[in-house]
Amino acid sequence: MELTRMKVVFFDLDGTLFDHYHSLRLAITAIQRNYNELEEKNVDELIDKYNLALQRAYDAYLDKVITYEQADVQKIHLFFSSLGLPEPSLDEIQKFRDTYKAVYRKNRRATPGSIEALARLREHGYRIAIITNGQVEDQTTKAKAIGIEHLIDRIITSEEAGYRKPDRRIFQYAIEQLGASLDTTCMIGDSAESDIKGALDAQMFAIMYSPTAQDSQKLLFGQQIPIIRHMAQLPGYLGIGDH
Ligand SMILES: [Mg+2]
Repeated sequence: MELTRMKVVFFDLDGTLFDHYHSLRLAITAIQRNYNELEEKNVDELIDKYNLALQRAYDAYLDKVITYEQADVQKIHLFFSSLGLPEPSLDEIQKFRDTYKAVYRKNRRATPGSIEALARLREHGYRIAIITNGQVEDQTTKAKAIGIEHLIDRIITSEEAGYRKPDRRIFQYAIEQLGASLDTTCMIGDSAESDIKGALDAQMFAIMYSPTAQDSQKLLFGQQIPIIRHMAQLPGYLGIGDH
């Protein structure tokens, strides 16, 4: 007898279900108030530079070049140097981290409409899982903090799977773990490189989440990928109508 394969929707966490950008903007604004040198800078430029520094340091951590703790320090070094500022002292780094973390954590929230969208999918028989690069503990804490934990069946991390996005094997691992069927499964994420490319490589249907996008689709890796700007659009894409 063949097992019934499940309807599952996979989500990325950071920047997709978790509103990283909201926390980041408030944290960087707080940092800006603390540093005279940053006063004149445009907050969007600071956010872009910090995001880049964060990504580079975090990639080095995921590549096991540096530890998690070192990545936390390195991103601040990278941020300062990208702004042409002198190397920060240990004291300055500590102060930066304390301010940043407190504000970032206090303002963690789900992206607009995502809690409602997840609830909607569940009502329609979908199981929901997160596929994320990172550590089990961190990402589980985050899911709890933003109020989605009760709506999620599984959080698959790169730490658990042994592969990280965009490696197709983490997606295949997730499909296996959830007993998902490829034709009733899709991946939703905000990163073309990590989420969309990886999902397509694993033969999954993919939807890009991009609140600032101008278009409703985009040609990525040879395929037209639907774009949603708000999570409220998601049920419609999965054939769940309004009623
Ligand atoms: Mg993301």
